[in-house]
Amino acid sequence: MNLLRWTSLVTIVVVMTLVGCGGGASSGDGNTTADAATETATVAVFCGKCGAEKGNESCCAADGAVCESCGLHKGTKLCCAALADEAKGKDICSGCGQVAEATHTCAVDGVKCEKCGLHEGSVACCKLKG
Ligand SMILES: [Zn+2]
Ligand SMILES: [Zn+2]
Ligand SMILES: [Zn+2]
Ligand SMILES: [Zn+2]
Repeated sequence: MNLLRWTSLVTIVVVMTLVGCGGGASSGDGNTTADAATETATVAVFCGKCGAEKGNESCCAADGAVCESCGLHKGTKLCCAALADEAKGKDICSGCGQVAEATHTCAVDGVKCEKCGLHEGSVACCKLKG
């Protein structure tokens, strides 16, 4: 009697686990799709005020060392990058090297620069620090 009850309990647990797995897998697929969409929409942007990657802890950090030559934080990607005047102080897209306006999306027909990986001819092409 006890064994019978135990067996049916195990059966219930197994069935629930299987059902749980199925549900988890399908919701996992949904998450993957959402993540991919977010990734394409959000490309890292270099902050025009400090030169660090936006959203990074070091971005506009109060204790960041300010570079005497360019006024951005020392050691950031944009520090002393010698950007064109039109791009100075502006946020730069790390995906294509263009000025990143609020609505910026990287041009799909942009030609990737072999040296720096940004789009050829963009304001930051071959001008960012290693
Ligand atoms: Zn910043
Ligand atoms: Zn600098
Ligand atoms: Zn871009
Ligand atoms: Zn380049």
